[in-house]
Amino acid sequence: MPEGDSLVNLATRLRPALVGVPIVLARAAEALAPETLVGLSVRAIETRGKHLLVHLSDTTTLHVHLGMTGRFFVDALDTPGLGPAPGVSLHLETSTHRVLGRTVPTLERLTAGRLLRHPHLASLGPDVLGETFDAGAAAERFRREPYVPLGEALPDQRLVCGIGNVYKSEVLFLEGLDPWRRVVDTPPAVLVAVLERARGLMLRNLGPELRRTRRGLDADRYFVYERSGSPCRRCDTLIAMARQGDMGRSTYFCAACQGVVRATQPRS
Ligand SMILES: [Zn+2]
Repeated sequence: MPEGDSLVNLATRLRPALVGVPIVLARAAEALAPETLVGLSVRAIETRGKHLLVHLSDTTTLHVHLGMTGRFFVDALDTPGLGPAPGVSLHLETSTHRVLGRTVPTLERLTAGRLLRHPHLASLGPDVLGETFDAGAAAERFRREPYVPLGEALPDQRLVCGIGNVYKSEVLFLEGLDPWRRVVDTPPAVLVAVLERARGLMLRNLGPELRRTRRGLDADRYFVYERSGSPCRRCDTLIAMARQGDMGRSTYFCAACQGVVRATQPRS
């Protein structure tokens, strides 16, 4: 699942292919006016949490969110193409590279003004992978949602952006915290530790290797994520999964290690 680290890795793959060189071919939905992309170049590629912003030389920006389905493929132009394929949302070529975006649910072209006023982008909290990320200041923002359980607060992109279901489950396990514990019942220093743990794990996953939060000798990449029914690596209790919040997002946990009494909790 794409979380902040996936987006930073995508930006790292896209930059050598796109930045500073003219676009010679562009195919996309009509709303993106692909014919007007030809001749432009990419000025910069930026990430904000799970969002990717491709800033173009005409001051417009392509805004990308991969959702659950979006994927990008970057190839040297002399690599054989896959031929016409369904689900291509964006096809860009420079004189050296081909970039294909497949089944990308959010792909829009924004003027500089619309970028500034974009309701979703403007509401994002600090980026957990941002260079200037301050875990103390970010933890303070969590006080805006005191009665929300940690398992819902961590992936709330308005509080801090970049954390999704994988890191939420892994970090709460590693910090020994009940995902149904509310923000108000969590000391600020504990929240800071959670955010610093998330940032540290994500920074270690920048690069081409498969994401992992666990570096054991066996094949498991994660401590709890997608391991329900398997024994906890620390205490042998079976890992469980429960749905949290209005979105019904999955939370994986070890009830013993994390002191989970019941996997539901009233809001107040
Ligand atoms: Zn355990």
